Amino acid sequence: MQIEVASLAESGKDFDHQYQPGELSLEDERVHLLDPQPYVRGRIRSDRGRVKVSGRITGTLELECDRCLKSVRSAVVAKFGREYATVAEYAAQHAVELSEDDLNLAVFDGAVIDIDSLVREELLLTAPDHVLCQEGCQGICPTCGTDRNAAACDCETAETDPRWAGLKELVNRK
Ligand SMILES: [Zn+2]
Ligand SMILES: [Zn+2]
Repeated sequence: MQIEVASLAESGKDFDHQYQPGELSLEDERVHLLDPQPYVRGRIRSDRGRVKVSGRITGTLELECDRCLKSVRSAVVAKFGREYATVAEYAAQHAVELSEDDLNLAVFDGAVIDIDSLVREELLLTAPDHVLCQEGCQGICPTCGTDRNAAACDCETAETDPRWAGLKELVNRK
């Protein structure tokens, strides 16, 4: 979804959008979207050459367990508040000093605000860096590759002499 800035009334406008399956991709290797697809609602306002967008996104992310790589479902809520400036405006601002507030400043082409990329970026920012499929996930044995949540293996990872790893693997296969 894109919003044309020229079409905005002085007072701004409210918007909302329910994404359909396949409509939006996060374009990320680690994080993917699951159903229900993202829903965004917010308010957009044009103010002296700048555009302010704020609102809330709900979505469901698929991540990988840190330890066993199993897929983990995570429902997230992202609240956002952004300000966009045209490239020229942005450059002019950089010539003087940028205030703290301006660190949130994004650049747009002066015509449209791309809500899709806003939603994509905010969801990726909200995605947790570390997730576990379950509390105390045992992970995958680095020696034999067994999912330790499903089965125990005989490897003593900490103590195993690497020279014996190959032999252990042979034994484990039997
Ligand atoms: Zn896990
Ligand atoms: Zn093992």
